Amino acid sequence: MRVAFFDRDGTIIEDYPDHEWTGINHPEFIDDSINTLKEVIEKGYKIIIITNQYIINEGYITIGQYHDINNQFKSELTRQGIELLDVFYCPHGKDEGCTCIKPNIGMIKQAIHKYPEINLEESFMIGDSAVDVELAINMGIKSFGIGVGSNYKKENIYQLNTIKDLIPYI
Ligand SMILES: [Mg+2]
Ligand SMILES: [Zn+2]
Repeated sequence: MRVAFFDRDGTIIEDYPDHEWTGINHPEFIDDSINTLKEVIEKGYKIIIITNQYIINEGYITIGQYHDINNQFKSELTRQGIELLDVFYCPHGKDEGCTCIKPNIGMIKQAIHKYPEINLEESFMIGDSAVDVELAINMGIKSFGIGVGSNYKKENIYQLNTIKDLIPYI
């Protein structure tokens, strides 16, 4: 099984400074993200979301608020005909030393444990932060950084300006 591991905030929906998340009640989809997800699925990938949510344990949002926004996120995708395979999130604060906060590989390990048929060589990670690209490097998989900058000039790491630039690569 080929999997496209997607970051959520700043990649599919808008991201905000941590303190602004406190007042956010609805996800705001970024231009072209829905069409891109559709095309990724048409190319034979399953979609798994891998999202750092340290704003939970750091007190900016409640766990209930996280689930509320994520449920709205998934409902809108379903309405658009997009089924996610799964969503993995790390609720831990940056100082907790957990193994799941990106760029640690814990969430991808959880995904492989739950879906042993994942073929990592045919999979990739895409996100808008350095931690997304670093996670892919730590995991040894292909990655696409959106507006991350060119600090990562390595084989298997691609720089994109917007999410829809992904399509020619896959
Ligand atoms: Mg992000
Ligand atoms: Zn964690």
